Amino acid sequence: MKPYRPSNKVPGTGWIWLLTLSILGGAVVGGGIALIARWIYLLLIFPALMGFTSGSATTVAIKKGKVRSPLVGLFFGVLTGLITYGAYHGGEYFLTRQSFAKEIEAELGQDLDSADMNALMDTFFQEETGSSGFVGYLKFSAKQGLSIGRAGSSSDGIPLNETFTWIYWLIELAIIEAISVIMAKSAAKDPFCETCDQWYGQGQRMGTVADEQSEVFLKVLEADQIVQAATHIQPRAATIPYLEVDQRQCPGCHQGEVVLEVQRYSENKKGEGKQSPVLLGMLSHRQTRQLTEAISTSQKSDPTIDTNEPDASQEG
Ligand SMILES: [Zn+2]
Repeated sequence: MKPYRPSNKVPGTGWIWLLTLSILGGAVVGGGIALIARWIYLLLIFPALMGFTSGSATTVAIKKGKVRSPLVGLFFGVLTGLITYGAYHGGEYFLTRQSFAKEIEAELGQDLDSADMNALMDTFFQEETGSSGFVGYLKFSAKQGLSIGRAGSSSDGIPLNETFTWIYWLIELAIIEAISVIMAKSAAKDPFCETCDQWYGQGQRMGTVADEQSEVFLKVLEADQIVQAATHIQPRAATIPYLEVDQRQCPGCHQGEVVLEVQRYSENKKGEGKQSPVLLGMLSHRQTRQLTEAISTSQKSDPTIDTNEPDASQEG
């Protein structure tokens, strides 16, 4: 079976979707998190949330813009993640400047115009860190250090020094990028019908393959031994983990090739299910018919499957 290969095409409207949602999604989410972070900031959870939203924004742009290039998907996954995290720190910078300004004005007992205020703050960051503006602010925040404590706890938490603050920020960025990139790349890899210019539909379940048979199943499938592969497919899995075998078709033309999608379903200790991609392969119409027929034959002859129908061989 030959694997499904995306065409790597990116239409003009695709670029517009990607750029718009990347900038807009990143700015809105990052800015929003900066606002919420005035009251509460949940470690690991907020970065994971930012990764999920930037992955989702990129996925929507890929789907709407018909982007079939995993490389372009990857690039915009990275970019949206960077914009989101940049907007979060940028938003904090903006809010910090505002509260600084209020404090200074309260101390002086008079209003300063914004040019004077900016000059004053930049001088402050310059003196403290050697850099002005946003970079000066970041360096200053790192020097102050973060404090890691439990949400809702009244204690001050564990202080992080300058180096560890930078490391912690890098870890946050890595979490955001990892989630965003995985989502964006897999969205662009999804099967697409070049004839009808549309995405393939959802998968229709053909059956499942037990974990201990999965290796053999994938091997015979790769060798185009369709009938052989069908003998490993059962209607329902008895144990977890298992392989889920779906067929996907273009909703526009049922003449086009069928994509066979194999995913591994597993559960963690908490019972949360997870599907991870294993294989996307092309089936010809003949192979699809062969596979469907072979599955129904092997399931009929399987004595372990309980059917309520009377056994035909008993008659006559
Ligand atoms: Zn089609």
